[in-house]
Parts: sequence; structure tokens; C-alpha cells
Amino acid sequence: MSKLADARVVVTGGAGFIGSHLVDRIMKEAAEVWVLDNLTSGNEDFLDRWYGDDRLHLVRTDVTKFESILPYLKGADLVFHLAANPDVRTAAENTYAHVEQNILATYTVLEAMRHQKVTDIVFTSTSTVYGEATVLPTPEDYGPLKPISIYGASKLASEALISSYVSTFGMRGVLYRFANVVGSRGTHGVIFDFIKKLRADQNRLEILGDGKQRKSYVHVKDCVEAMVMGYDGNEEDLGIYNIGTEQSTDVITIADIVTEVMGLAGVKYHTTGGVDGGRGWKGDVKVMSLDIRAILGLGWEPRYSSDEAIRMTAQALLKEI
Ligand code: NAD
Repeated sequence: MSKLADARVVVTGGAGFIGSHLVDRIMKEAAEVWVLDNLTSGNEDFLDRWYGDDRLHLVRTDVTKFESILPYLKGADLVFHLAANPDVRTAAENTYAHVEQNILATYTVLEAMRHQKVTDIVFTSTSTVYGEATVLPTPEDYGPLKPISIYGASKLASEALISSYVSTFGMRGVLYRFANVVGSRGTHGVIFDFIKKLRADQNRLEILGDGKQRKSYVHVKDCVEAMVMGYDGNEEDLGIYNIGTEQSTDVITIADIVTEVMGLAGVKYHTTGGVDGGRGWKGDVKVMSLDIRAILGLGWEPRYSSDEAIRMTAQALLKEI
């Protein structure tokens, strides 16, 4: 039986893209789900299929505010902590955003958990903690970890905080380092950007960087299943798991898939050339591929390859945007 069965679960950021899919998944088992979300990038409509189900509670609150979240953690069995500023690009203009929304938010959630004696935390980290890894696919024990974006640094700092709370206060943690997660309800990222650009101009597509950036993409349905299976199967005090697909896809191929799904022919691609040797922006990792054997070992398997996840996402977002 899943550890989630009959559990009282808190999901920070549960009205966001991944969070709302996670809620859909855990509502199959949990006794109660409390979503704490300030709706900066989340959307209440993502949870509308659950309205009327009195097991789901959506609380509009800011997880950087200790007093505001404290009452909702009382009696919780575990916290899935997803609330964050997930945009790697914003940091170049606003260096504090990730410090506040990612590091301070994680600290505040941990403090509230400690006060309410909640032991289990599941955290959504990222492949960007590896920086420019020299080992590909990159395993979880790769080091030294040298993120090249403030976003990556803020997630690594959050991982470190969780590790210290686990050993100091007897908590248990599961850290997931995600590849690029894609799927319906996505509100940012390369597929979203391409669709918006092609809607504005069907003949020309601007591609940030040199188009050769190559990364692993995982479908959000596979991702949330991995989050549940990893939590269930993890036996470490602090488990760390990469979540991605074994394949990777370059940006030009993503453009090809999106234009094909949109039924467009003859679109001219214009690569901007980017910065620092073809990156889309400062802090953009050029090649990302994750070693996923640890999570596969817990019985999870992605149903969709990187290319399939991109195609399904393009189809879904075309209807949504
Ligand atoms: P998202 O922006 O859709 O979700 C983030 C959610 O957190 C939103 O609902 C937002 O309203 C909420 N939020 C932000 N700051 C908050 C605050 N201070 N208080 C309360 N709520 C707040 O992004 P997502 O893509 O669903 O990302 C979810 C998590 O997964 C994030 O932690 C992100 O860093 C991580 N992640 C995502 C990806 C990806 O490819 N999408 C990859 C690696 C890691």
C-alpha cells in the first residue's frame, strides 16, 4: 500500500503546472490535500476538477510567511514542497527573486514543519544543480556541484537546508532533480515560447542560442508518478533521485516537432546565436542528460520518450494557449 494512502498531504505550489498534476495523482489515495499557493504563476482553474471534493483545500498564501502557513501544517504527514520561482532566466535582472522564493521559502517551510513536528518533505530540485557536468548522463553522486545560474544555486542551497534539517531534527527527505518537465498546463519553457511566437508569425521562428542545446524532457504525468513511487520506495533518510528520460532532444528538433504539430511548412528558423557559445541565455546549460538508474531501480519507468513528451505537449498546449 502506498504511504500516501489516507495521508494528510500539504502541497506547496500545488496550483502550478507540476503541482496541479501531482494533486491529480495523489487525490487518488490521500485522505486530505492542502494546497498552499499564492497563485503568482499558479492557476485555480488547474484544480477545478476537484471542486466539490471536500478532501481538497486550496489556501491562497505565501510560503515565505511563517505565521501564514503554520496552521496548515498541523497534523500533516508530509509536505511536497514545489512552490518556487522556476524561471532560470529572471535571475539576470533580479538576483533576489530566487533567494527569496526558493531559499527563504524552503527555510520557512522547514521551520513550520519543525514547529508542527511534520517529518517528511519531498522537494522538487533540478538538473541545474549539476552546472556544466562533465559526466553525461549525470548520476546523483556527481560532484563538485557548480551551478551556473542563480536558480540552480538556490535549489542547491535548498537541498543543503533540507539535508541539515534531516540530520539535525530527525526529518526524512526526498530530493528530486528534474530534467525539463513538459505537458499540459505548462506556462513557460521552450515549447510554450515557440507556439506563442509561431502564432504571431507563421513564417519565421526566432530560436534563442544556436539551437544545438540538447536536453532531456520528461512528461509531467511520468514525472508525478515518479514522485509518488520514489517517495514510497525510498528507504534513505535523505533520498536523491534524478527524474528524466534516457533520451535527449535538441532545440532545432523541438522547433521541427512544434511546426509539424501546428501544420506549418517552410518556417524559417533564425537562431540568435545566444551567449557564451550558443546558450539561449546566461546560465543556460548547453547539454543535460541525467542518469536515472536510481529511480528506475524503484520500479518507475517513463512511458514517453523525450521526443514523444515534446510532441504530446505541443498538441496539448496548442489547445490551451
Ligand atoms: P509553476 O510556476 O507552474 O509552479 C510554481 C507554483 O508555486 C505556482 O503555482 C506559484 O503560484 C507557486 N508559488 C510561487 N511562489 C510562491 C510562494 N512564495 N508562496 C506560495 N506559492 C508560490 O512551476 P512548475 O514548473 O510547476 O515548477 C514546480 C517546481 O518544480 C518548482 O519548484 C520548480 O523549480 C521545479 N522544477 C520544475 C522544472 C520544470 O521543467 N518545470 C524543472 C525542474 C524543477
